[in-house]
Amino acid sequence: MKKLEEYVVSIPDYPEKGIIFRDVTSILEDPEGLQLSIRELQDKLEGMDFNIVIGPESRGFIFGMPIAYNLQKAFVPIRKKGKLPCETASIKYDLEYGSAEIEIHKRSIKPGDKVVIVDDLMATGGTAEAMIKLIEGLGGEVVEVLCLIELMGLKGREKLKGYKVDSVIQYP
Ligand code: 5GP
Repeated sequence: MKKLEEYVVSIPDYPEKGIIFRDVTSILEDPEGLQLSIRELQDKLEGMDFNIVIGPESRGFIFGMPIAYNLQKAFVPIRKKGKLPCETASIKYDLEYGSAEIEIHKRSIKPGDKVVIVDDLMATGGTAEAMIKLIEGLGGEVVEVLCLIELMGLKGREKLKGYKVDSVIQYP
C-alpha cells in the first residue's frame, strides 16, 4: 500500500511563479488514498474532547465533513464572503498570495463549544488564525487545528502559538 505523501502531486509555479502547489485532488481520486487521508486525520483526534468540526471552503469541507460524520460531531462550514444566507460574522485576512474574506453563521457557534478546525493544508497559518478569531468571537474554544499537509518553512505554528496544531504530512 502506498504512503499518503506518495499520492500528493506537487505543481511548480502554481498559482504564481515561485510557489510549489501541493495538490490534494490526487489523493482523493484514488480510493485507497481517500481512505488513508480521512483515517490518518481522524487518528490524530483520538481522545480529544470536542463537539464541532469546522472546515473552510472548499478543501476543508472535503476533509472535515467525513471526520465529523464518522465521529458523530457537528460540521460547520466557513465560507468565502457572500455565500451564507443567515446572519454572519466575517473577517478579512492576508493569504500566502493575495487576501480573502471569510464568514461563519453566527448561530453555528455557542459559548462553550469545543471546535476542531480541519483543512487540507497550512501554509502561513493566516487562514487558521482568521478562523480562530471568528470562532472565539462567537464564544467557541478552538481545541485543535488539524491539517493534512503543513508547509513547515512558512512557520504557521508560530502564528498559532498557544494552540494545538497537528498535521499528517510535513514539507520543509
Ligand atoms: P495559509 O492561510 O496557511 O497561508 O494558507 C492555507 C490555505 O491556502 C488553505 O486553506 C489551503 O487550502 C490553501 N493553500 C495554500 N497553499 C496551498 C497548496 O500548496 N496546496 C493546497 N492544496 N492548498 C493550499
